[in-house]
Amino acid sequence: MSANRIDGKKFAARVRARVAEQVKQLQKDHNLTPGLAVVLVGEDPASQVYVRNKNKSTKEAGMKSEEIRLPIDASQAEVLEVVERLNADPTIHGILVQLPLPPQVDEMAVINAIDPVKDVDGFHVINTGRQAVGLEAMVPCTPLGCITLLKERLGDLSGLNAVVVGRSNIVGKPMASLLLGENCTVTIAHSRTKDLPAVCRAADILVAAVGRPEMIRGDWIKPGATVIDVGINRIETEDGKTRLVGDVCYEEAEKVAGGITPVPGGVGPMTIAFLLVNTVTAACRSAGIKIP
Ligand code: NAP
Repeated sequence: MSANRIDGKKFAARVRARVAEQVKQLQKDHNLTPGLAVVLVGEDPASQVYVRNKNKSTKEAGMKSEEIRLPIDASQAEVLEVVERLNADPTIHGILVQLPLPPQVDEMAVINAIDPVKDVDGFHVINTGRQAVGLEAMVPCTPLGCITLLKERLGDLSGLNAVVVGRSNIVGKPMASLLLGENCTVTIAHSRTKDLPAVCRAADILVAAVGRPEMIRGDWIKPGATVIDVGINRIETEDGKTRLVGDVCYEEAEKVAGGITPVPGGVGPMTIAFLLVNTVTAACRSAGIKIP
């Protein structure tokens, strides 16, 4: 293991242990068990793995976990009906609809049907807007995990140059907004960015959320920079098997970066840990009590 590897798995285990303590405290002091419901439409293998892991982690933290599975041909009305039922269920504090949804279901309509207080993914337009203007909001789990890792590693982020490659609503944009909130000078790069290697080379903090295996090379990275690799890409190896790689070429980047998250074992475990954090936050907010 290299010295500059940022161990997200280890950090996430600490976050999960703290959540488990908070859950015990909430049960003892307020008779409140945070509950998370995950809705899965269809049988996409990657989504099934994510949902299984989320379910397992929720139970391990002592929370209530509910998994709702709908067939791949479920109609939008059927998905919305499930969301409405969960919105009305007082034992469920967090609702997550696993994306992507099949084409007959309008993703935005489903996300925006979730009660914003229960929107633990932080994708509802109300939470997006509140976060953008600096109000209390539910922040998407992956960017929340990334910013926490960065602050843990670097302390004060003020004045650092941050480059986020990728501008999706679920990772790139909220990540950029969180970095701005920490007083970084933020650049958002995307598929139309000119001379991306030069843009990346200016970054003290480089966040890759692209979905292209090992696109970012070692010589795109400023020596000593902190690199957060959000990408999860499955590639075929020479022996016909598959393995997971990030958006950054780890072997090259670790020689240059001051710190880098591996794939797997970096951002992924943080995402699940912060889903649990958000569920505790949602439960406390809905009950009007302070997070222990
Ligand atoms: P997405 O919605 O497909 O967005 C990808 C972004 O990358 C877009 O903004 C796109 O630009 C940009 N892009 C594509 N090709 C590019 C290129 N050649 N140069 C520069 N920018 C380029 O993906 P996402 O949902 O944000 O996810 C990104 C990656 O993170 C995926 O690998 C995904 O699996 C992973 N992910 C991981 C976690 C986790 O827990 N670790 C969570 C969520 C996602 P345009 O906007 O111009 O098209």
